[in-house]
Amino acid sequence: MKFNTKTIHGGQIEEKGYGAVMPPIYQTSTYSQKSPGDHKGYEYSRTHNPTRSALEKSLASIEGGEFGLAFGSGLAAIDAVLKLLNPGDEIISTNDLYGGSYRLFTKIFEKYGLVFHFTEMDDLSKIESLVNNNTKMIWVETPTNPMMNIVDIKGLSNISKKFNLILAVDNTFATPFLQQPLLLGADIVMHSATKYLAGHSDVVLGALIVNDKELSEQLYFIQNASGAICGPMDSFLTLRGIKTLHVRMERHCENAEKIANYLKSNPEIESVYWPGFKTHPNHEIAKKQQTGFGGIVSFEVSGGRAEAFRLINNTKMISITANLGDTKTTITHPSSTTHVRLSDEEKRQTHITENLIRISVGLEDIGDIIADIRP
Ligand code: PLP
Repeated sequence: MKFNTKTIHGGQIEEKGYGAVMPPIYQTSTYSQKSPGDHKGYEYSRTHNPTRSALEKSLASIEGGEFGLAFGSGLAAIDAVLKLLNPGDEIISTNDLYGGSYRLFTKIFEKYGLVFHFTEMDDLSKIESLVNNNTKMIWVETPTNPMMNIVDIKGLSNISKKFNLILAVDNTFATPFLQQPLLLGADIVMHSATKYLAGHSDVVLGALIVNDKELSEQLYFIQNASGAICGPMDSFLTLRGIKTLHVRMERHCENAEKIANYLKSNPEIESVYWPGFKTHPNHEIAKKQQTGFGGIVSFEVSGGRAEAFRLINNTKMISITANLGDTKTTITHPSSTTHVRLSDEEKRQTHITENLIRISVGLEDIGDIIADIRP
C-alpha cells in the first residue's frame, strides 16, 4: 500500500456490526464480561479502547512501523518515552527543541535523576564525543521548532546503533508524509498529533510508533501504568484528520514555499528560515531525508520585538496562536509563547530572538495569506 492509501486504509478493519465505514466512537470506560476474565480483548479503556486501537493501527501504518500508541498529548507521549530510563541515565538532545519538551526534560525529569546534554546536531562527531557509559538515548527534533534546523537521522542512527542507544525522533513538523524516521534507523517516532496529523486545531493528542516488540511492550506497560491516554472522541478526530494528511501536506508545502520566497524578497525581512533554500545550512540533508520542505517558515523582521508584534498584530485573517499544523495559517512569536520559559541565555544560545516570527502556513489562497502578512 502506498502512503496516500495508507492514510485512509492503513491498519483499519471493517466494522462488522452495522457496516460503519468509520470506527465508532466507543465512549465507554469498561466492557462487560460473559464470566470473570472472559472478554473480547477489551476490559477497561485506560488499557485498551477500540477507537484508540483503530487510531494506533493507523499511526503505525503511516509511519511504516509495527506498533502505535496514542496519548493524551504530545508531551504525555514524550513523558512515556523518558520513563523507559532510570536515574543516572543520560540523554543527548537537540538544543533548539520545542520549549515544552525542554521544560519537561529539565524541570521534571532532571529532578528524577536523568541527565540531559543539549547540543547542536550538525556535527556528528561532536555527538559521539558526548556518549559515555551512562548514555541511553538520543532525542531529536527535526525540523526543529522554530529554527527549522535539520538533523541527519541516518547519521545519528549509525551512532545510536554503535553504542546501543535508543534513537527517538519527534516527527511533528515533517509528518510521515515527508519523513519516516523508522525507515532511516530511528527506534521511536513521536508526534504531537495535535498538529498536522489531526490537522484542524480541535484535538490535543500524542503518538509513539516503534518497530521493536520488546520496546513496544515496555511502552504499552507505561501507557497503561501511568494512564496518560487519549479519549475515544479525540482518537476518532485524529483518525479522521489522518485521512486527508497527504492532501493537506502537499498544499502546506506548496504554500510555504511561496511564503518563504515572498519573505526572502522583502527588504523589511532580515532573515528567513526554511530548509528548501539552497543556502539553508542543512538543505542537502533535508533533500535527502525528506520528500518536501514542510509547512513552517520562520523569519526575522528588521528591528526588534515592537516590529515583530506590529506585523503579527496587523494580521486579520491569520490566527495568532501557539499552535501549528492547522488548515488555517497561524502566526506565533516564539520568544513570548512557545519558548517563553527559556532564560535569556538559553534563548540566545538557540537563536530565539525578539524579532523572530514563526508562521504555520495554511491551506488558504496564497494571495490572501501574503496580503495578510505584508510588513
Ligand atoms: N513536539 C513539538 C515539535 C511541538 O511543537 C509540540 C507542541 O507544540 C509538542 C511536541 C508537544 O505536543 P502537545 O502540545 O500535543 O503536548
